[in-house]
Amino acid sequence: MSFTGPPPAAGQNELPVDSKVNQFLNKQLTDISTDMEFTIKSSRIDPQGPLYSGKTFASLRLKPELLKALNDLSFIQPSKIQEVILPVLLMAPPQNVIAQAQSGTGKTVAFALAMLSRVDPTKPWPQCICLAPTFELALQIGDVIKDLGKYIEGLSWRYAVKGAPLERGEKITQHIIIGTPGKAHDWIIKFKALDPSKIVSFVLDEADQMISMQGIMEQSIRLHKEVENNTQDCQTMLFSATYTEDLIKFAETIVKDSYRLTLQKKEQNVPYIRQFVVPCADRMAKYRTVVNLFRGITISTSIIFCHTKASVDWLAAQMQQRGYVVGVLHSNMTIEERATVIDMFRNGEFKLLITTNVCARGIDVPQVTMVINYDMPVTHDKGEPDYETYIHRIGRTGRFGHPGLAVNFADSDRAMEIVNMIATYFGVEIQKLDTEDDSQLERIENDKTGGIN
Ligand code: ADP
Repeated sequence: MSFTGPPPAAGQNELPVDSKVNQFLNKQLTDISTDMEFTIKSSRIDPQGPLYSGKTFASLRLKPELLKALNDLSFIQPSKIQEVILPVLLMAPPQNVIAQAQSGTGKTVAFALAMLSRVDPTKPWPQCICLAPTFELALQIGDVIKDLGKYIEGLSWRYAVKGAPLERGEKITQHIIIGTPGKAHDWIIKFKALDPSKIVSFVLDEADQMISMQGIMEQSIRLHKEVENNTQDCQTMLFSATYTEDLIKFAETIVKDSYRLTLQKKEQNVPYIRQFVVPCADRMAKYRTVVNLFRGITISTSIIFCHTKASVDWLAAQMQQRGYVVGVLHSNMTIEERATVIDMFRNGEFKLLITTNVCARGIDVPQVTMVINYDMPVTHDKGEPDYETYIHRIGRTGRFGHPGLAVNFADSDRAMEIVNMIATYFGVEIQKLDTEDDSQLERIENDKTGGIN
């Protein structure tokens, strides 16, 4: 949960400030805030960029109710993935789709529009099923449905997530079911709370995360089979931020005869995020630098990623002692607590969220300007760089072309090696902020690209 501590401690509680790095990152944050409007515009006119689109939503022939809602949100132009995929998603007869694009490029909005275009609110039964790997993502998708579907009269949706009640023998009447695979599986297969033959849209979001959890993957496959075996016309849409061999195998098991959209590897990196690494002598030095980094930073909404729940709690307590208002999110919390924290973060009630990988994927808080990898992401079994998690984590900033900073902390040779391997893998430059070398910071300052790759 979030908490407020006393005002920043002075004197003995105060840690020595690494003022050069502090000032440098502060300046970067100020710059990207000032540049924001310009960067969004310029990223959208870069024909190679994932947000580029020459069309407007109006030209995609969406229902007037949807155009009106898009207009309310000031969504005028579709992103590239939206432009390419919406005409396919809206085709008659319905076409199955597998789509991969980096986080923050508008996938959720795309499939929400597709579901909302297919649903008939005059029929009082479920017509769309949307599966997401976590409770938080399910709620976030529900929020998008709510915003985009607000002019569709009589539209209803329901969450099939942990804790959501279903009466014995109840038949669901809501049009769209948004849920996690476990609960949706219970409702549909165990309790037969809806008729699978009436499903016209089946969405699997963040499929790459689904396959990392065996149980969830199997439930999703079974659920999809149940629908597929009962209906001819169901459109399946599978979305993923990454596109590995395992993902392709999973996607092919589920989605037959599909239209595929994938970005080329080069397009997959996150072009609007300046990436840095701060070398630290040891864990203590790292802790000092991170804690002090936030001194004086008032403009940034940030997420700090730690490897374990224990380090999340520990770091949060340290920050709290120094007077920072922070939120904490990890899997030891109840889902209600997690939902409250995300809502508060989204509403700006605190600007710093400390979390484990539970928050690495999908969560959309557009105002996040800085992501800190307090611990570099590594695989659990071998301690190798976890490339996918890295791209997901830093993708919490840079949403829809907004610029952002990703700051990695390397407290050992191995951690630095991991940073370098990640840079090589994605073909990006992760600039080293050498705290001892003042002239190096100035050189980066003067480099007009600011390290954007
Ligand atoms: P993804 O699912 O790929 O991570 P989202 O659909 O969540 O991406 O979109 C990322 C952010 O961009 C969200 O805050 C969303 O409201 C916004 N967004 C999506 N599509 C558009 C658009 N066409 N114009 C402006 N903003 C958009």
